[in-house]
Amino acid sequence: MQTSAEQKSELKKSCKNCGAELLYAPGTTELKCEYCGYKQEIAASDLGFEELELKPYLESLGKQSHTEEISMIQCKNCGANQHIEEHYKSLHCVYCSMPLIIEDAHNEEWILPGAVLPFQINQTEAHKMFQKWVKSLWWAPNKLQKASLDPQNTKGLYAPYWTFDAKLSADYSGQRGDYYYVSVPYTTRVNGKTVSRMRQEQRTRWSPAFGSISGFIDDTLVRASQQKSGVIPLKVARWNLKQLKPFNSSYLSGFVTEKYTIPLKDGHLDAKAEARNIAEVWARRDIGGDTQRISSLEMTLTEETFKHILLPVYISAYMYHGKRYNFFVNGETGVVAGERPYSFWKIFFFVLFIIIIIAVIAIVGGS
Ligand SMILES: [Zn+2]
Ligand SMILES: [Zn+2]
Repeated sequence: MQTSAEQKSELKKSCKNCGAELLYAPGTTELKCEYCGYKQEIAASDLGFEELELKPYLESLGKQSHTEEISMIQCKNCGANQHIEEHYKSLHCVYCSMPLIIEDAHNEEWILPGAVLPFQINQTEAHKMFQKWVKSLWWAPNKLQKASLDPQNTKGLYAPYWTFDAKLSADYSGQRGDYYYVSVPYTTRVNGKTVSRMRQEQRTRWSPAFGSISGFIDDTLVRASQQKSGVIPLKVARWNLKQLKPFNSSYLSGFVTEKYTIPLKDGHLDAKAEARNIAEVWARRDIGGDTQRISSLEMTLTEETFKHILLPVYISAYMYHGKRYNFFVNGETGVVAGERPYSFWKIFFFVLFIIIIIAVIAIVGGS
């Protein structure tokens, strides 16, 4: 049985040998002391995942058993709300690198995460990927090369997401379309003569269709961070949710944890929209034929549950000419993506160089 103390997000675990703080070692199920190398296995939970019933949380958030207080600092620049472990000597926003002020930390209530996907890639590896990416860029400003040297610019973040499960049932009506082909005469010119030919054209025969569908939707993933800039690119935001572990605060040790800024209620609306898309796909499959039209679809969701989950990503933030850029590494799969600045002068001189070469060729060729 997991005790409530083990669920707390802020529980510090210290080294039995030297008293230093133990940090989660990516790719393992261990906490590790950075000073003496002591390792401690993170106890596996025998509880499994706890799916929370949605309705009571939507009605009265905050009075639930799965909420607790956690210390948070909100970035005044970009609004990200983050929980930063004390061992970070300099506090900087994980998204925008703006300094954070420890005095701004305050306790907030949050719904405890139901699951966490532990980092599989460590900070050094992620930072190397960032450097490699920077080196591969054409026209990148030198300042960016310099920024990529500082490992402090790459931070591991547990990003908040909501997942929803529900039983979906729907009644639909529409039309089923079956293709058939007709021969249509046409004329063309062959060797200067007009000749008649036949060609096959596709037509659709429509017939009425209606019915009902039902099924279970598992793990609809909805982002819970409201970041307007610094949004994790879709390419990076794909994790294998089968690797989720029941929440244990040990996995957070040494990383920044972001608190959801998209409320459960809004996340639920996104999930419902996604459920509707799924219902349409199911209805189309049910109708069959070659193509389908749906004229009405009445959807109901029952047995709705949700989880607040934390997913691993590394973020590098850098400023260039007053604009902020982010680079991302998926902390599980290592997939990378980022926005990049262009150096005006590098491009300017390259273009100038090309013009000179063309001019020289023209002059030499003309003489
Ligand atoms: Zn130690
Ligand atoms: Zn920020």
